[in-house]
Amino acid sequence: MRAELLIKGGYVIDPLTKFAGQGDVGLAKGKVVALSPSLPSSQADQIIDASGYIVMPGVIDSHMHASSEARWVGFQMMASVGVTTAVDFGGPIQSTIKGLARYGCGMSIAGLHTIVPGENTSTTDPPVEELSTLADEALAAGALGLKIVGGHRPATPEVTARIIDVANRKGCYVAFHVGTTETGSNIEGFFEAIRLAGRNRLHIAHVNSYCRGLSKTPAQEALDAVEALTANRHLVSESYLGTINGTSAACKDGLPVSHVTRNCLRMGGFEPTEEGMAKAIKEGWALIQVLRGGQIELVTGEEGYEIWLEAKTATGVSFPVNNPAAMHILASAKTPSGDFVVDAISTDGGAIPRNVQLERGAALVRLGALTWPELVRKLTLNPARMFGFASKGSLQDGFDADVTLVEPESGKAHMAIARGEIIMVDGVVVGRGGCLIATPAAKGAETEGIPVEFADLETSLFYTRQ
Ligand SMILES: [Zn+2]
Repeated sequence: MRAELLIKGGYVIDPLTKFAGQGDVGLAKGKVVALSPSLPSSQADQIIDASGYIVMPGVIDSHMHASSEARWVGFQMMASVGVTTAVDFGGPIQSTIKGLARYGCGMSIAGLHTIVPGENTSTTDPPVEELSTLADEALAAGALGLKIVGGHRPATPEVTARIIDVANRKGCYVAFHVGTTETGSNIEGFFEAIRLAGRNRLHIAHVNSYCRGLSKTPAQEALDAVEALTANRHLVSESYLGTINGTSAACKDGLPVSHVTRNCLRMGGFEPTEEGMAKAIKEGWALIQVLRGGQIELVTGEEGYEIWLEAKTATGVSFPVNNPAAMHILASAKTPSGDFVVDAISTDGGAIPRNVQLERGAALVRLGALTWPELVRKLTLNPARMFGFASKGSLQDGFDADVTLVEPESGKAHMAIARGEIIMVDGVVVGRGGCLIATPAAKGAETEGIPVEFADLETSLFYTRQ
């Protein structure tokens, strides 16, 4: 078949077919039409010279944030580092769709819908029927599933388990930032999450962030997490490679609203109060997230403090709390059968400036912690399988024409192609709009003109791995 775009002369890595070598990839009508060591130029309308670059399936960010209006800039930030598909872990889904329609940059986006008992439910102890109705509404509006933000705004263990159960009964996705009223966003919360899931399916979000050394050393906590995930293969997870976290700086009645924020202040030796937050910003421990020049930047010191005051504390904030040893263990650990223990490398970024999956991933390759084909697997095929994105994660014929070109030494993304269209070249984002990936419950949903595709959760790793 004639290719509209022929990506020629790159080093192609495809984790599904295990192709790894000099090769050409032909794209037409939004799909891959050929992958071969050499394809004739005469068969193509347009040729992209990929020599010197790794050509891989489009990067899938398995955990990011771009849903609220202040975070729609996240689409641009992701596209600029080569992401072609991403899953928003915040919601509400209506806001994710609105952002996608206006600022989508050509990417495919799925979104989870956050349930915070007591905030968007009638009480802190919502019954099954209420949670079930909420889930139905979210799925009908285009969500892939639910998110529980325990670590930030904890629910009781019983209510948390109830939400997980409701999602499993519906066959939708459910992800958990661990922590309940009994534990916290730490390794104890992580073990509790495994207990609360029982035999239910659950995505444990950003495992690295529970290994910050609050009970043992970070490396030991990471090894304990690896052991637990190896023993519980019915759970899926991702971890990221950014040194900073991302949380809320909002304070109420003299205290940070988020429990994660309180922990981060303690870790830096500050009081977990509004006053402690002010001091932490002035002294450079707390980094305030500020929109500047089309992206979110981190500002600290007096300047950051002024911005935070001006916003009446309602800003995002980051702290340098992620331990590199724990991150590296979680990124590279394998089960005895050779699978990755943590399924994917994510960013928890989007609008939080830590979309470093390729850059830091390439650094792990240079260190010898991963090979390039392994890194590509964790950034493409594994997340595609996890969420049931059946036509993504490979450059085999018939898969979606999502491709990322990377400079191998630096890990810098050179080009991103999403559904057959070039959306980014050397950091300049030219893509528009996008595509929503939802469940079949979203048939007929109002999506602001955004086309909808359906994930196959029934055959996803999330619902099938033994
Ligand atoms: Zn997150």
